[in-house]
Formats: sequence, structure tokens, C-alpha cells
Amino acid sequence: MDKTDASLEEKDKKYIWHPFTQMSEWLAGTPVIIEKGNGSYIYDTKGRKYIDGASSIWVNIHGHRKKEIDRAIERQIARISHSTLLGLSNIPSIQLAEKLIGLAHNSGLSYMSRVFYSDNGSTAVEVGLKMAFHYWQLKGGGHKKKTRFVALENAYHGDTIGSVSLGGIDLFHKLYKPLLFETIRIPAPYCYRCPFGKEYPGCNLFCTGAAEKVFKKQGREIAAFIAEPVVQAAAGLIVFPPGYLSRISLMCRQYGILFIADEVATGFGRTGRMFACEHEGVNPDIMAVAKGITGGYLPLAATLVTEDIYNAFLGKYEEFKTFFHGHSYTGNPLGCAAAIANIDIFEREKVLARVRDKSSLLGKLLAPLRDHPYVGDIRQKGLMAGIELVENKRTKKPFPLDEKMGFRICLIARDMGLMLRPIGNVIILMPPLNISSANLKKMVSVISSAIDINFS
Ligand code: PLP
Repeated sequence: MDKTDASLEEKDKKYIWHPFTQMSEWLAGTPVIIEKGNGSYIYDTKGRKYIDGASSIWVNIHGHRKKEIDRAIERQIARISHSTLLGLSNIPSIQLAEKLIGLAHNSGLSYMSRVFYSDNGSTAVEVGLKMAFHYWQLKGGGHKKKTRFVALENAYHGDTIGSVSLGGIDLFHKLYKPLLFETIRIPAPYCYRCPFGKEYPGCNLFCTGAAEKVFKKQGREIAAFIAEPVVQAAAGLIVFPPGYLSRISLMCRQYGILFIADEVATGFGRTGRMFACEHEGVNPDIMAVAKGITGGYLPLAATLVTEDIYNAFLGKYEEFKTFFHGHSYTGNPLGCAAAIANIDIFEREKVLARVRDKSSLLGKLLAPLRDHPYVGDIRQKGLMAGIELVENKRTKKPFPLDEKMGFRICLIARDMGLMLRPIGNVIILMPPLNISSANLKKMVSVISSAIDINFS
């Protein structure tokens, strides 16, 4: 195969339709083609090296070519790469399920009891919402009216039609409205742009009042409330004020509404805890995990549920209580083997304690940027951070989206050896958890210079 740069570029442009990408711009540009990775670095076909500041879209956990994960996959390949979970089982999927439940319990998510596998974050959410709906149907009686879902403004839960229905980002979701089910939307706790014009902590979490109103009035028709715990990542790294999540999850219990925690972005240590729910001592009924589950190696996802939900689906075959859902690669042994190795590294390398140290370093490094005239807000939880750029710092006026300010700055950073992907006007930092302190410093200094260059 011809691996010269020119031929790869030509064939990329000839054959590939890239996700979340305006292809006419792509065709006019020069693509960066990644050839290899090592640790926190990725390398392109021209031999240029970049810090993987977005963890290859928030999936990579312990860096690239992590020896233990490489070996675990090799060992599994030598046995079998795939067999189905429909009517069969396989060794790594059993071992991983036990580990996932153990991890959840260690994080205080004590109701998590069963694991349903799929292959990406969207499907993990889709499974959760179908299970929640189906659960109430199986409960019968008045519960059958519980068919609706509540989600936050600006929510992002994936790209399948169910998870798009839960989503609240107009740019991505509005067009598909005729295909979607109607979700009840409640305000997100976006303190920098508080929809109620209040300030934390004086507000006493006023925004939870809006949720309570909805739960009180419509609780009998609501199947579940879904949210990303503590950080709404794709909404622009919105970090919830302390107490928000625990209060709203208590309300769910009070009004008989299931709580679905979407830990697809926040799970596996990103926020400094294994799962973000742990920050608030919150116990979901359903939890979706994906992205970091395999350390960023292979597509695998899981939906964890309580024993109560699982039990509702038990019965004789002819009662047809079965959860008729499953994907061809559900419980893929290679993915599960990678995930087991990924989880073992957390223990062995004391990853969470290190993340907490590094996140305080990151906080200190980012602090001076707060004074920049075009930086409106900096939000951070663990090793997830977002820098929100604004046209006017005093009025918080955002840059128009078509100015692509986030993208412009990230392109400058890329030329300086740092790979990032912005969300609108928010520059997102989400490096691998084992990034060195030196590389964290480099990341922040490159971003700082890129912002200066852009506005000079
Ligand atoms: N949920 C959340 C919170 C996410 O951030 C994402 C992806 O960014 C998804 C779900 C969808 O995951 P995937 O892209 O693996 O389908």
C-alpha cells in the first residue's frame, strides 16, 4: 500500500466523510494524519509530534501504547477476538462486569448491580433510556404513564435518535426535531451565565427549584431524569455548583423518577474520582459509561443498573419481559480485556491520587489566564477544563459562532505542538490522566500564547 503523505491525503479526501466536520473546508485544507502515539504524544505522518490535549476525543486515560493494555489485547487476540453475548458468554466480559460493579461500589454507587454492554457512549445512553421506559411499562398500572424524560438545557448524550432526543444543543439537534421524542427541558446550572441572574452560593441553588416544579407537576408521567454528573462536558465544560447534583437526585427519589447518570465523559478518573457521582455521594439508578472504559483503546460501553430494574425484566419467556436489545459486538472480548487492564492500572499506579495533584497544578497554571481580556470564564474539575472566550468580558457577550474563535486558537496551538478540539467558544483541555507536570505546563503556556497570537 502506498503510504506516502500525498497519496494518503488524496485517498482520505476521496473516501472518508469525517464526523462533525464541514467536508468542503476539509477538502480545501491539509489534513493531519496520525501515524502513531506514545504516552501523551501523538505523531503525524510528517513526523510532527503533538501533546494529545483532547485525549483523542476524551477517551485516552493512561497515554498511548500503554504496555499493560497492549499486552492484554495481544493475549486476548491469541485466544479469541470476538464471540457474541447473545446466548453465550465470554471470559473477559464476565471478569469486567465484576470489576465494574466493584468500582461502582467503591465509589459509593452502591445500587449498581448488573452490567449491560454496548459499544459507545450513545448506545450506552440509548440502552439506559430504553430500560427506564421499559421498566415502568413492566411495573404496570399507573406506572405505565411514566414515559417522559427530563434533561438539562444544552445537554449532549450522543448521536443516536434516542440520545439526540435527550440532547439540547440546537446546533446539533434542532434539525432532527421531527424524528425525536419530546424531552422536558430544565435549566442547567451554568453559573457563569445563570439563567436566573443569580450568583452561587447566595442563590441557594435556586435553579433546582425549576426542576422541582417539573418533578412535582409531571412526576407521574416522568420515567427518568438524565444528566452528566458534575460536569456537562460537550455543553462547554459547565461545572455544576456543589450541592446541585445531590439535591436534584434526592428530588428524583422523592418523586419516584429514575436518575440516569451519563458518566460517558466524566467516568474513569477524569474529574479526580473514578465516577463523578462520587463527588456528591449520589446514587443513580442507571449509569452509562464508555469513552475511557478501555483506556481509549477500543469501542466498548456499559450501562449499569440496579437490581430492582434488572428484576423487573425477569419472567417466563412467554411473558415477553425480555429486554430485546443488543449489538453485534456487545461484550467484545478484546474491548473487555483492554478495559480490565485499564482498571488494574488505576490501582497499581495510584492514578486517582495523581490526578488530584495534577488538577491542582492545572488550576494554578490556568489562574493567570482569568485576567486575559478575552477570557470570560475558566471552569475545571479534575483534569477536565474549559476556557470560555468572550468578545466582551464585562457584558459576557460571546463571539459569534461563525467566527470560529475556538477553532482558530486551537489551530494555532496545533502548529505549536498541542492538539486540542474546542466546543464553540470554549477551549477544552482534557489530557491523558498520566500527563507529566512538564507537559501540563507546556499545554497551558501554548494555549496562552495561542490566545495572544490570535488577538494580536
Ligand atoms: N454522553 C456524553 C456525556 C458524551 O460526552 C458523549 C460523547 O462525547 C456521548 C454520550 C456519546 O458518546 P459516543 O461518542 O461514544 O457515542
